Amino acid sequence: MTEDRKVENVIVVGGGPAGYTAALYTARANLEPLVLEGFQWGGQLQNTTDVENYPGYPEGIMGPEMMSQFRAQAERFGTRFVTDDVDRVELSDGGVQKVYLGDEEHLAKTVILAMGAEPRRLGVPGEMELGGRGVSTCGVCDGAFFKDQRVIVIGGGDSAMEDSIFISKFASQLTVVNRRDEFRASKIMFERAKERGNIDFKTPFVAEEFVAGEDGKLGHVRLRNTDTGETEDLETDGAFIAIGHIPKSEIVVGQVDTDEDGYIVTQPGSTRTNLAGVFAVGDVVDHTYRQAVTAAGTGCMGALDAEWYLRDTPPSPEAHWMTGGEPVEIAPKVG
Ligand code: NDP
Repeated sequence: MTEDRKVENVIVVGGGPAGYTAALYTARANLEPLVLEGFQWGGQLQNTTDVENYPGYPEGIMGPEMMSQFRAQAERFGTRFVTDDVDRVELSDGGVQKVYLGDEEHLAKTVILAMGAEPRRLGVPGEMELGGRGVSTCGVCDGAFFKDQRVIVIGGGDSAMEDSIFISKFASQLTVVNRRDEFRASKIMFERAKERGNIDFKTPFVAEEFVAGEDGKLGHVRLRNTDTGETEDLETDGAFIAIGHIPKSEIVVGQVDTDEDGYIVTQPGSTRTNLAGVFAVGDVVDHTYRQAVTAAGTGCMGALDAEWYLRDTPPSPEAHWMTGGEPVEIAPKVG
């Protein structure tokens, strides 16, 4: 079959640290990547203030500025960007990959999926408004800003315990607020949190509202007892919401293998999915680490995996395509 259509070497879906790093590496490999970076490009770092844990920035850097620099570095080597959301994909096992922005179809020999994840939100007043002013969803990122201050952590899973143990090294007093008397966290994590001298536990409570103090920063959290319905205000300098993450994999669910939580499954030690030519990187794969630097690392891996796939895939007589006027052959599948 011959069609007069441009087929990209690489389409990267997603514009966070993983996607931009994949773009940088594939651009430097002369693969001219196309990044469909999403309307709100920059990923979770776009909603972050100081980033102090990304190596190479000893003074720290603002999250949006760091993402602009990631993007500019990828652009310098010829990356093209479309600042729009991908609506759907038609993925193939080793054939041509189809990615759609509305009705606009983009074809590619490889796709690197880097859509990221988002922290689960409570959906209560003040939560978004006070983001960066006392309310955070990333203990590892922001814990150190609360030295000798009072902090609450909302959630009862391993993330909440891990955040609490980490933040309690800085905070003077930390209260874990959980909606049930039982904790979902593993016993060992829960025990470790209990062993810290400055952590207490408040159950069964949910946060109903985050309220600013006179300085415009978080002043107190309104809590509701889920048994009695009674509310009370808890003064605090910081509130960390640690109630899980949601991988942004909805456009590929049912096409590539995902686990029960919706994370894309990759082959161990690689970024390969179950479909040849389709790779997945960053937080849409990562249950555990979810750091900018780990996302960037897997973005690099995805780029190399895609490059090697393109290099090693033998031409197939079945699929002939046009790229910039030149016929290109694509194998239906690699072994
Ligand atoms: P989990 O889904 O395990 O826990 C989420 C917690 O948030 C639960 O306590 C849940 O309560 C609570 N929650 C959910 N929604 C709300 C809400 N709307 N209001 C109030 N509370 C809410 O997520 P985690 O991020 O903690 O962990 C995800 C996975 O990652 C797990 O498999 C975990 O083991 C793993 N992990 C492992 C770590 C480690 O081993 N070092 C560190 C971090 C994570 P409820 O129980 O009532 O549903």
